[in-house]
Amino acid sequence: MRTMPAVLIVEDEPAIAELIAVNLRHNGFRPVWAMDSASAQRELDAALPDLILLDWMLPGESGLVLAKRWRSAARTQAIPLIMLTARGDEADRVAGLDAGADDYIAKPFSTKELLARVRAVLRRRTPEQAGEAITIGGLVLDPGTYRVSFEDRLLKLGPTEFKLLHYLMTHAERVHSRAQLLDKVWGDHVYIEERTVDVHVKRLREALAQAGAMVETVRGAGYRLTAQPIQTAAAAEKTGA
Ligand code: CA
Repeated sequence: MRTMPAVLIVEDEPAIAELIAVNLRHNGFRPVWAMDSASAQRELDAALPDLILLDWMLPGESGLVLAKRWRSAARTQAIPLIMLTARGDEADRVAGLDAGADDYIAKPFSTKELLARVRAVLRRRTPEQAGEAITIGGLVLDPGTYRVSFEDRLLKLGPTEFKLLHYLMTHAERVHSRAQLLDKVWGDHVYIEERTVDVHVKRLREALAQAGAMVETVRGAGYRLTAQPIQTAAAAEKTGA
């Protein structure tokens, strides 16, 4: 069962916040409203949302300052973020995107456009929230049906290998250390040795067969899933960590 994605709305104008919240609620999202930077920070400290809609012009700290801060903090840096603003010119748009916003919506906006952008950003940043299959170089993972296939052949994966592959595919081409994978795949409240990651990566490669080479060992750094493997899985096993 998929839970409703939580959207934190940081907006000081109650009428606009209410309009957004009503539309999000009617479309399967769970809106949370914060009217200034301090309450937004409190909401983030309490629970991480799936997406943040951040107004630029806020009393106290501006949305731009908040965007920069949240992007530089490890806990909040991966949360998809859309900036809302009355400012529509090029320089501001660039400043917003430079601060780490995934998208930008100029006021006044239609609620249809807002919803379309929210869905698009969620799809891009967290395909599991959109419930859609992820495809990378012939490898397809469907979080809805828990199926993985390579070039149309179904593969059998254990639950941990599935979770690991899911994480690697939604964060493809980036190198992840064993500690990062433990944190993201196993959760940070569990104590597991880093070697455990290696064991599951080995199992994952075996389960993926020909596609196993897509899970690359990056010597001294960790693992990455890539659409264009430069070495075979067997060679990766030999080079080790
Ligand atoms: Ca405002």
